[in-house]
Amino acid sequence: MEYDAVVVGSGPAGSVTARFAAESGAKVLIIERRQEVGVPVLCGEGISKQVDDFKVLKGRRWIANNMDGARIFSPDGTMVKLAAEMAGNETGYVLYRDIFDQELARGAIRAGAELMLNTCAVNLLKENDKIKGVKARHFDEEIDIKADVVVGADGVESKVGRWAGMKTTLKPSDLEICAQYTLTNVDVEREYCDFYLGKKIAPGGYVWIFPKGNDVANVGIGILASLSKPGLATSLLDKFISSHPELKKGEPVRFLAGAVSVSEPYESVRDNLLLVGDAARQVDPITGGGLMASIEAGKIAGETIGRAVEMEKFDKEMLSAYEKAVEAAFYKKLKRNYMVKEIMLGFEDKTLNMLADSLKDVKFDEISTFGLVKALVSKHPSLLMKLRPLIKAARV
Ligand SMILES: Cc1cc2nc3c(=O)[nH]c(=O)nc-3n(C[C@H](O)[C@H](O)[C@H](O)COP(=O)(O)OP(=O)(O)OC[C@H]3O[C@@H](n4cnc5c(N)ncnc54)[C@H](O)[C@@H]3O)c2cc1C
Repeated sequence: MEYDAVVVGSGPAGSVTARFAAESGAKVLIIERRQEVGVPVLCGEGISKQVDDFKVLKGRRWIANNMDGARIFSPDGTMVKLAAEMAGNETGYVLYRDIFDQELARGAIRAGAELMLNTCAVNLLKENDKIKGVKARHFDEEIDIKADVVVGADGVESKVGRWAGMKTTLKPSDLEICAQYTLTNVDVEREYCDFYLGKKIAPGGYVWIFPKGNDVANVGIGILASLSKPGLATSLLDKFISSHPELKKGEPVRFLAGAVSVSEPYESVRDNLLLVGDAARQVDPITGGGLMASIEAGKIAGETIGRAVEMEKFDKEMLSAYEKAVEAAFYKKLKRNYMVKEIMLGFEDKTLNMLADSLKDVKFDEISTFGLVKALVSKHPSLLMKLRPLIKAARV
């Protein structure tokens, strides 16, 4: 088995990388340890409408719900409403994530990539310390897959980077522990994704309600691992649901538990190897959303592989074009949001309530940055001191 590139993982990052590499003429294999792409679903299923700009999805079957915007609720229940374009990367559409991942994989296959299911990478294939591909297990069979480039698109628990000697371990304050029910027979507004903040509601994180249709919604929680203990995420989520009558009568048709990184992006390139998506910690540290970044980085990674194949050059210098391009595309935002996350962690519930009270009547699409700061501090002047680091971070 010899390829230009072997991609470990058929999530959005892997499939989009494979698609653009294959479109650029590379011979590509994706290996996936699961028996079905995208299943089981481990996601809140929210994504920005910017996904349409990448033209990587056929049809509209992957969309469960079309959102108007987001509503953020402070600990005392004050609501701030944001239009979808302003609400970050996780509002716009609510997905059927299994269909979404399968559509992206189909795009890769149509472009010429091969896909092997039930195939788990177990190590890198090396010769004199040089990466030559991956060792994998396909059912009970051990196989060597030779490739000039190995792509680690193996998600938050990524091992590919570690096998190459890269720093991949996350500290507990950079990891969110998540739990989610998909509830049926709920009574939620289907136009808005809702976010609930507060130290008692979700320490270091938030509760989300993402409506999937008339009476179906994903109701989930993320809490910072450093503030968590076993079972806390699920018990806080249960408490939240039972205290909201519109959710309480719902029945779960799906439960999931998982983790998301909320760190700064990590290094992503070595000779003959690159990391994409969650594996490279390309996730928004405020929201924990990584779908858009996976797609954007996957496109750049695939195109870089295409050029590397053309030039028959696969060293770190060549592949660093990928790292530089993703840095230019969105690392500035991720780094800024990491600072904002760290600052907001220090906010008491009282401060969040004051913030929401100042912002609840603001028309965000009509207001300048200066007007926003004025609105923030005119009601609660004591906010100025607390917000100073935030305003500084936002300028970076
Ligand atoms: C509870 C939860 C809710 C979330 N909600 C949202 C949301 O609403 N919006 C959003 O934007 N993001 C959300 N995220 C984050 C989002 O799911 C990830 O950012 C996204 O899936 C990253 O894509 P990826 O391709 O990098 O990794 P993944 O989608 O995780 O794909 C990795 C793939 O690699 C495979 N794999 C792993 N190891 C191996 C191996 N050794 N060999 C072969 N295959 C392997 C896995 O089986 C998997 O298919 C959420 C995450 C969680 C846990």
